[in-house]
Amino acid sequence: AGTLSALPVIPLDEAYALTAAYNADSHPEKVLLGAGVYRDENLKPWVLPSVKKVRKSEILHETVVDHEYLPIAGAPGFLKLAQQLIFGPILDDTSRSHAITSVQSISGTGANHLAALFLGHYLRPAHVFISNPTWMNHHVIWELAAPSVVRKTYPYYNPATRSMDLDAFLAELETSAVANDVVILHACAHNPTGFDPTHEQWDKIAEVIRRKGLFPIFDTAYQGFASGDLDEDAWAIRHFYKTLFEEPTTSPSPGMIVCQSFSKNFGLYGERVGALHLALPPGSSLAGAESQFARLIRGEVSTCPRFGCRVVETVLSDPALREIWQADLKTMAARIRAVRQALRSELVKLGTKGDWSHIETQIGMFSYTGLSEAQVKRLNEVHHVYMMASGRISLAGLNEKNVGYVARAIHEVVE
Ligand code: PMP
Repeated sequence: AGTLSALPVIPLDEAYALTAAYNADSHPEKVLLGAGVYRDENLKPWVLPSVKKVRKSEILHETVVDHEYLPIAGAPGFLKLAQQLIFGPILDDTSRSHAITSVQSISGTGANHLAALFLGHYLRPAHVFISNPTWMNHHVIWELAAPSVVRKTYPYYNPATRSMDLDAFLAELETSAVANDVVILHACAHNPTGFDPTHEQWDKIAEVIRRKGLFPIFDTAYQGFASGDLDEDAWAIRHFYKTLFEEPTTSPSPGMIVCQSFSKNFGLYGERVGALHLALPPGSSLAGAESQFARLIRGEVSTCPRFGCRVVETVLSDPALREIWQADLKTMAARIRAVRQALRSELVKLGTKGDWSHIETQIGMFSYTGLSEAQVKRLNEVHHVYMMASGRISLAGLNEKNVGYVARAIHEVVE
């Protein structure tokens, strides 16, 4: 029997711990570059104008007539729109049969959790391959939800060259992966490195996954936020779908899952809006999978929350609101790009040792700066700049006012 009074104390999640330490710091020039949440130019939380409009308008109030439960699988209207956002033109091609089903989830985390639970129960792969490095929750989720699946990492980033290491990634799958193994991929804006594969590189990854009969999970938490373009940020998912299911093949893929979060691209972090999409080879029956999802969801959360998905559904189904939302995405992506450029040019201006071009070639909320753990520690202790020990920074914490200070601080610790 276990005992609860002598449980080991484990460290708080690093991003949460950084925020707490930052809040307790009274230094006037302190800078927080930790948590992955978007901040506006004044470093304040940003309610997207499209979302604000929905909240103020009558539309939402008219649809909020009661507070009944959603169906177990989620809100049908929301799910249809979420599916269209990800798969786009694939679904418009009615000459092809598709076997895609979608269920609502407690945001991206919930979708990842449900994917692990579902695949751990029914696909029962020998391994799950997780990017090294990755969003740390991938490890926690698979450890908790699918303990019998062996977690392996695939090399993704080479610190020596400060770039992606595609050859090592592919070699790992070639040598260690067996049929049905799961491979978790970041659809865009890789967290934490900020390095995404090019279209050609994605094609190579898809080829190995298809040939070896592996099962990809696309974790998509930044569609539209990364490049400002919804289709570009969904390109890899759509390309994989076509490669796995539409091209003639002798070894049909066992399937693919997309874990979709609306936290960043709608700024609805605390509302927990998300979806899981399962695609099986065309012609497959989905009835069994749908019923199993219903069982898993019922046993975990019964049904998902309603408010956030109603906001998303309202925006996506109204052409005028959707246009405002797409402009909101461009605003966020452009601000992130602008601070990337500002940080790099400040470092270049100072003549800071090293090549800082990666800060601009990376994409999305995060940059793997290449700073060492000792440099990160000094940045914190001497300059009151808070970032992950890995050297990851969240660019949303920078603005015109503090970017010079941060660059000078980096310059000092690098010298
Ligand atoms: N996956 C990745 C790679 C992420 O960066 C995040 C957000 N930090 C998520 C999933 C999920 O976040 P949420 O549960 O808020 O949707």
